Amino acid sequence: MKASSASGSEDAQFNPFHMAQAQLDTAAAILGLDPQIHALLREPLREMQVSLPVRMDDGTVRIFKGFRVQYNDARGPTKGGLRFHPDETIDLVRALAAWMTWKCAVVDIPLGGGKGGIICNTRELSQGELERLSRAYIRQVGRILGPEMDVPAPDMYTNPQIMAWMADEYSVLQGHNDWGVITGKPLIMGGSKVREDATARGGMTCIREAARLLGIDTRGMTVAIQGFGNAGRHAARLGEELLGVKVVAVSDSQGGVYNAAGLVPAEIITHKRATGTVLGFPGAETISNEDLLQMEVDILIPAALENQINAHNASHVQARIIAELANGPTTPEADEILYKKGIYVIPDFLCNAGGVTVSYFEMVQNAYGYYWNAETVKERLDEKMTEAFHAVHEAAQKLDVNNRQAAYCVAVQRVADAVRLRGWA
Ligand code: NAD
Repeated sequence: MKASSASGSEDAQFNPFHMAQAQLDTAAAILGLDPQIHALLREPLREMQVSLPVRMDDGTVRIFKGFRVQYNDARGPTKGGLRFHPDETIDLVRALAAWMTWKCAVVDIPLGGGKGGIICNTRELSQGELERLSRAYIRQVGRILGPEMDVPAPDMYTNPQIMAWMADEYSVLQGHNDWGVITGKPLIMGGSKVREDATARGGMTCIREAARLLGIDTRGMTVAIQGFGNAGRHAARLGEELLGVKVVAVSDSQGGVYNAAGLVPAEIITHKRATGTVLGFPGAETISNEDLLQMEVDILIPAALENQINAHNASHVQARIIAELANGPTTPEADEILYKKGIYVIPDFLCNAGGVTVSYFEMVQNAYGYYWNAETVKERLDEKMTEAFHAVHEAAQKLDVNNRQAAYCVAVQRVADAVRLRGWA
């Protein structure tokens, strides 16, 4: 089998799918995974590539290219976002679908992993063109979607309005409303309460549990947050509200701000909304993103881009806990350095799994046609995230590996068990 071919090759650094395969290979080696199951898990089970003719506002027809990858459904229907991006490639969608498989497994929700995308630049499309493109995608790909098969959600440059058009198109094709085909919908069309801040909320549960394990009280702990978008902004607000932490530094693409006495999250959210950046927040000093990562704080929350903590700066990171709300913020070289320094890293696909967990709750509520109040969603999310956190922590202790490898091992073992029990390999 070709298990080791991608690992370590130069190509593996640039092809995200080869990187995803290399990560699986490492977990398979630690687990001593059956070679046939390993071979099956290295490839997507199904994928669809489509051409989408769309009538543009000027009367011409433009052909867009779309993808849907159903990586593995051994544990349940595949689940994963839809991205509208000019640089979308099939290998990126495959990698993201693989990562969704492990993310759903690590939080133990009965779903597999999928991902989809359309090569397009949403900034160049009118609302009408965007709607026709979204509906065209469902007309082509809808035949392999459904609450029991594969359930998309919003992702990069897609939003609840696009999900609403897609759910409507799918319902028209079915001849009846079928809201469970897609999540991240507006509340009025069967969306779930708490979806908006679920990713950050799940991350807060992980931080609380990590602090408990380390015997530290979160009240008054200092926090630096890189990125002040959906994930970072809610992390600042919920960190203060749920854990009593003191947010001392935040940043966005333009730079960061710092105040040792603490920044009031609600005020900085208002400031960012008004000015478009966290910079210029009254009473705070300006810092760079690099300064923020190396700051003397208790908790560091990367919530922006990938590869931010790398071989160049990992040895300067001073935080005791790193909670990765962003996807892929830490490179493999940095991971080793942080592990040796004794920093407690909560890996991305565990730390940011709150979003997909509430998406799963949305599917459950759609299936019942009965909707939970916010408190119920919060309680059930907390329970799922707490269980997942401890499963990973225990695996790290038992296997004597870092938390990221442990998270992979927990997830891969769960999918492998389902594959074996179903008699696929
Ligand atoms: P977003 O677009 O809402 O926010 C991104 C933020 O990062 C913005 O404030 C932007 O200014 C900032 N940023 C961009 N470049 C930066 C840089 N060089 N330094 C510092 N800040 C920079 O995105 P989001 O939804 O908050 O997602 C952020 C990360 O979290 C991504 O990696 C995403 O994949 C991950 N994530 C988000 C969710 C979710 O539900 N939103 C779920 C899972 C994972």
